[in-house]
Amino acid sequence: MLLRPLRAMSRYYVTTPIYYVNDVPHLGTSYTTIAADAFRRYRQLRGDDARMLTGTDEHGLKLEREARDRGIEPAKFVDDMSARFRAAWPELEIEPDDFIRTTEPRHKAGAAAFWQRIKARNPDDIYRGHYEGWYCVGCEELKTEKELEQPGNICPLHKRPVERVKEPSYFFKLSRYEQPLLEHYRHHPGFIQPETRRNEVVSFVEGGLRDLSISRTSFNWGIPVPGDPKHVMYVWFDALTNYWTALQDTDEHKKFWDDASEVVHLVGKDILRFHAVYWPAFLMSADLALPKTVFAHGFLTYGGQKMSKSLRNAVDPLAIAREFGEAIEPEVAAPAAAAATQRGTKAGAEVVRYQLLRAVSFGQDGDFDLAAMVERYNADLGKNLGNLLARTLGLCVKLTDGKVPADPVDPEFFRDATPGAPVWEAHLAWQRFEPHRALAETLALSTAANVYVDRTAPWAEAKAGNIARVGTILRTLLGVLERISVMIWPVLPSKSLEMRRQLGLGPVEPKVGAEGWPFSSAEPAAGRVLVPGPPLFPTIDEEGATALLAKLTPRAEGGAPVPPPTTPSVSVAPPSSGRTNTALADGPGAKSATSIPYETFAAVDLRVGLVVACERVPKKDKLLKLAVDLGEPEARTIVAGLALSFHPDSLIGRKVIVVANLAPREFGKGLVSHGMLLASGPSEKLVLASIDGDALPGTKLK
Ligand SMILES: [Zn+2]
Repeated sequence: MLLRPLRAMSRYYVTTPIYYVNDVPHLGTSYTTIAADAFRRYRQLRGDDARMLTGTDEHGLKLEREARDRGIEPAKFVDDMSARFRAAWPELEIEPDDFIRTTEPRHKAGAAAFWQRIKARNPDDIYRGHYEGWYCVGCEELKTEKELEQPGNICPLHKRPVERVKEPSYFFKLSRYEQPLLEHYRHHPGFIQPETRRNEVVSFVEGGLRDLSISRTSFNWGIPVPGDPKHVMYVWFDALTNYWTALQDTDEHKKFWDDASEVVHLVGKDILRFHAVYWPAFLMSADLALPKTVFAHGFLTYGGQKMSKSLRNAVDPLAIAREFGEAIEPEVAAPAAAAATQRGTKAGAEVVRYQLLRAVSFGQDGDFDLAAMVERYNADLGKNLGNLLARTLGLCVKLTDGKVPADPVDPEFFRDATPGAPVWEAHLAWQRFEPHRALAETLALSTAANVYVDRTAPWAEAKAGNIARVGTILRTLLGVLERISVMIWPVLPSKSLEMRRQLGLGPVEPKVGAEGWPFSSAEPAAGRVLVPGPPLFPTIDEEGATALLAKLTPRAEGGAPVPPPTTPSVSVAPPSSGRTNTALADGPGAKSATSIPYETFAAVDLRVGLVVACERVPKKDKLLKLAVDLGEPEARTIVAGLALSFHPDSLIGRKVIVVANLAPREFGKGLVSHGMLLASGPSEKLVLASIDGDALPGTKLK
């Protein structure tokens, strides 16, 4: 039986934040934009009229000052900076339908129209007053003294003193929207995602909303307030309206912002408040539809390190994509062939896309680790999917004359249009904003097919003369590959194209109103000529990986490599409750007050452990419960204070260093920890001591 979700085509509009142009495109902004591109592509496959918007935020005091510091006009400065974003996205295979700049006439006109809409519909919502307060130029935001670090009124984010400002200002009556917002959150549980973020916003609003200053007179670099050009709009008011102003040019585009359209804003968790509180309040006041979902994703660390500004600028996703592309497609990346160079880059870009969306649970904090990227590329794409394509086509060349055989497909294998099967589960995961799961399911289908080839052994059937059976097996595999070539398209569009070329198929071409997700169990067309080509994902051997990693290691300004965390310092996790372990309590810099004899140290049994399972401990914010394989008959339970720094899923598969002979420690409710992990840093940004290479679980460290 063929099952598929029945649905009508809908309008879908996914946005990224517009990026502030005092920065260049980095891993964080690339991550959001890649995700938006992938969600839009998935919805296109589903037959939706799907649209993606990104752009740049170009107003505000911070930019005015930065341009002046460089001795250039703000307008020229933002032109140059915005162009970098526009040029970066295609290099990462991102194809936004629109790119908006807040300095464009269409946006300025739109923002003014939005302001006037509020004035017309709710005249009391914008009123004149003036404010006095502490203003952080870095945040472009007023701060209360409670939010600042004392003494000295220091912005906790920017670590520098805020400025005292007093000026006339227009205010938005945000306080009026406290109850309507809470009501909206209640009736639309999916409005703010993920759930934990939603709870944060709800308690923020429940704590009471102050009216919001929405204009400035102290600088000019902004959009003039209609009717009072001495004022410019507060940058956040100006910026948030972009999602709407970008659609005001045609009637066709205006339809993407109505009650029937599904509007999704992807944002980093640091700017969720603006999108989940201020923006919907502005929209209510302007009597416009609210977005369906504001989804806040987490922050990325790099090789376990927090992204400082210098590290963030040093990790260039475009450079990583180029180097990776050259490593896996060197012959096409030769400078002689310009078009081919682009192919190499595309291959690298797709590996970056895959790693970001597969390795990080969308919505949680995650780590971007280059060595892990190479490993995952080899395992998932090279040895699993790439291998499936190569061996299937190879068998067809030998056994079916290089064509799709006509024998019926194997009903044993084909349960893929039913709930529980990968095709179905991957589609559900995309709908739930879980690209990491969608890709895992897609690869699970490939794994199942590889297992199927091994089990059915078509070469043996051929030897035994069972030609029809051979045809059935190979046509079944070709059907699976055809499905996968569609399922990877949202994340790996160029590889999908190449894969389909080898399968003798044209490109994936989504059509509005036509279901393109491979729910259907239609069989691949018999007789189609297959076109085997070079490996889809050539694997990288150990030598190649070492060379590639050396090239990819980002360099800080001045050329010094930014090292990944190598020998992490050693301290106690969880933070000991008053008790201090003499041998391990201090960090590397800190001289131990008392030295210990070697025998005392030698008594500590340090071993390599492999984390096989990990979960939060209910009602304990800091604690994770891990199952760690130490080469013993059963995995050990270890409780560690890692939860503020790590998502449980991100630890599974990590090799950690375990103090294996520590006396068991009780955590209440029958929870006992049998060992301790080594980690360093404050509990909200811990670095976990781990070990590279192929050390087996249980290996003793010395
Ligand atoms: Zn600040």
